[in-house]
Amino acid sequence: MKLNELNTMAASFAATEQMPVLFMGHGSPMNAIEENEFVAGFRNAGKGIPKPNAVLCISAHWETRGTFITAMEKPRTIHDFGGFPQALFDVQYPAPGSPQIAKETKETIKKTVVGLDEKWGLDHGCWSVVKHLYPNADVPVIQMSIDYTQTPQYHYELAKELASLRKKGVLIIGSGNMVHNLGMVAWDKLNTVDYAYDWAAEASAKMKKYILTNDHQQLINFKSQGKAFDLAIPTPEHYLPLLYTLALKGENEKVSLFNDKAVAGSLTMTSLKIEKA
Ligand code: ZN
Repeated sequence: MKLNELNTMAASFAATEQMPVLFMGHGSPMNAIEENEFVAGFRNAGKGIPKPNAVLCISAHWETRGTFITAMEKPRTIHDFGGFPQALFDVQYPAPGSPQIAKETKETIKKTVVGLDEKWGLDHGCWSVVKHLYPNADVPVIQMSIDYTQTPQYHYELAKELASLRKKGVLIIGSGNMVHNLGMVAWDKLNTVDYAYDWAAEASAKMKKYILTNDHQQLINFKSQGKAFDLAIPTPEHYLPLLYTLALKGENEKVSLFNDKAVAGSLTMTSLKIEKA
């Protein structure tokens, strides 16, 4: 290793101001290439955030048995969807990985043995939003998987262990959707702004109340919240990244909501930024 490489490595670990944390409601993969209010919201959320040493993304679209972190130098762009225009399959997001920060993240976590992954890459839950924050793909991006065998409480506690990375210039992003029921999408209302079924509106309102009053336990216990939550969270993978984000909120931090709208009845794009109050 050359001396200048060593210097670059040391710089990437330098202490920084505590980075904000984001939860991004990613919605349709088309948000990767469309110009719309949600994309504008993503970009706006990135404003004022110092350029990170790396992005660590917890995406709804990477579920594994056990927890893994991508550790390759050059993560591939994964097109993990079907039935979309060729233009979306043509998107490449060539952000570098960071084997060093992957290793550091692994070592930060004491709760479980984290595996370093060389096969995954960046799935659309990650690149479709991160590309709007860093269009030049000049910030290293790593992903951490969601262990589908574990409880919501486990995920919340695991996320807390990532807190120290925020002071090392790592921007942590949870990417999912709070209300996400693809089986109940109102296809005829795709273009009706902010159209939500009653149950979706009810679940969304309760989620926001719990978020803004710091009542995280109610959100962790989402399976005991009744019918509206059951319909809003038929499977947990799009919801769990929210718990990863909330777990990182410090005492003196505030939460702001953005992109707080419903799409096609059964999805919400509601997103969060957690930062110093
Ligand atoms: Zn998704």
